[in-house]
Amino acid sequence: PVRVRFAPSPTGKLHIGGARTAIFNWAFARATGGSFVLRIEDTDPTRSTDENIRIIVDAMRWLQLDWDEGPEVGGAYGPYRQTERMDTYQKALQQLIDCGAVYRCFCSKEQLDEEREKMQAEQGGYSGYNRACRHLSAQEVQAHLDAGDPFVWRLKVPDNHPAIEFDDAVYGHMSFPADVMDDMILVRSDGTPTYNFAVVCDDINMQITHVIRGDDHLSNTPRQILIYEALGKTPPVFAHLSMILGSDGKKLSKRHGATSVEEYRDKGYLPDAMVNFLALLGWSLDGETTLISRDVLCKAFDLARITKKDAIFDEVKLDWMNGAYIRELTAQQWARLARPWIEKAGATPEFFALDAWAEKTFALIGQRLVRFEEIPDKLAFMFWGSTLKALDDASFKKVLAKADSRAKDVLVACEAILADTSIPWECNVMQDAVKQLCDTMQLKPKAVFQPLRVAIAGNMVSPPLFESMELMKREDCVARVHYVAS
Ligand code: GLU
Repeated sequence: PVRVRFAPSPTGKLHIGGARTAIFNWAFARATGGSFVLRIEDTDPTRSTDENIRIIVDAMRWLQLDWDEGPEVGGAYGPYRQTERMDTYQKALQQLIDCGAVYRCFCSKEQLDEEREKMQAEQGGYSGYNRACRHLSAQEVQAHLDAGDPFVWRLKVPDNHPAIEFDDAVYGHMSFPADVMDDMILVRSDGTPTYNFAVVCDDINMQITHVIRGDDHLSNTPRQILIYEALGKTPPVFAHLSMILGSDGKKLSKRHGATSVEEYRDKGYLPDAMVNFLALLGWSLDGETTLISRDVLCKAFDLARITKKDAIFDEVKLDWMNGAYIRELTAQQWARLARPWIEKAGATPEFFALDAWAEKTFALIGQRLVRFEEIPDKLAFMFWGSTLKALDDASFKKVLAKADSRAKDVLVACEAILADTSIPWECNVMQDAVKQLCDTMQLKPKAVFQPLRVAIAGNMVSPPLFESMELMKREDCVARVHYVAS
């Protein structure tokens, strides 16, 4: 059975690229009936705090990417934090020691730096290791040990190893010359495993069948294959995902705006829209369908349709997609998802006790909403009570303060209508009553409705006015109109 993993290093955010990797792994597991493992690569103690792990877990939960094994859910191959798996790396190291596939290296940092400088001067580029310790005699090793010299464990890359080849599920056949592979460090002098060693040990012990990850790891793959070989194991299938670029064609970075899942959540993007959008960064259903539900994704996802072309993160498309998902929300979903933003606009529990507040607010703004972060601005005026807390300058000049305008008269008349409790406080009824002013005052609808809109909402642009007013208190509306009219 397929077993895949998402293996983030908790650095304080779940980046867009990481989220895309997580989605591909998750969707692949779901489509194949396999297992999706969440593994925390927390061997860097400075950044891998509980708080940072929490952030990853929260972001995954927000995206609704459920994992079958990992933090909070457990599983048969745990623990799922690398810092809790130290004994397994020790065991693998012991195996390599026993079969002579590793050696101790006592070279000091100074020696290595010196060597590097020398080689750089001679060859114009060198990042490897001269294998000075590979051929130490047993006595020399013992002398170092007796002197208490610190050492690392290095992999003894076999002499005359043929090119390292593998078939990447995305990039196709790959071949790396083995003679440029230096004898990489597997275990540091403090006993901790290096990234390459820990990943291979974990993927073996967790029986991972497919490694789907960013192509920034492509150069690690031949090294990891050497470790698989040394441990006598068959490597999994690798699928490396191309880079994500901003719409300017440059690698996605802070310059492009938000780069983490949290930031998109906080702007009010829907998790379903994010998952749909990110799934299409390098994968496609059929080359044209853009709106793809989770269900379809979880049935149709396959590695064959991943492209190696760089993916473009197109915010315009994301905005469009988010709007499309918002329009599809049921009243119930809207009630749950929009409520915190409507609270931000100033709504109190009293408001949420109103009949059909969700349907009505959705009808007010749902159709044209792009992100939930727009909600507070759009709806704030409804929660100002009796005071007009903000009056847009341009609207004031254009609608209320024009010399030839009869705005004041209109508002005086409107106040009388709104205050008339014999007219029920229902949007259609109120609208008809105000409309009659057009006849009695011989004015165009705009000359009547605009002043009222500015008096109530403080702006000539607002959600549908009478529908909004219906959700407000009559006396508050009257008070605002009175204030502007006088
Ligand atoms: N922990 C690595 C990272 O966050 C991923 C390792 C892997 O997928 O092999 O980049």
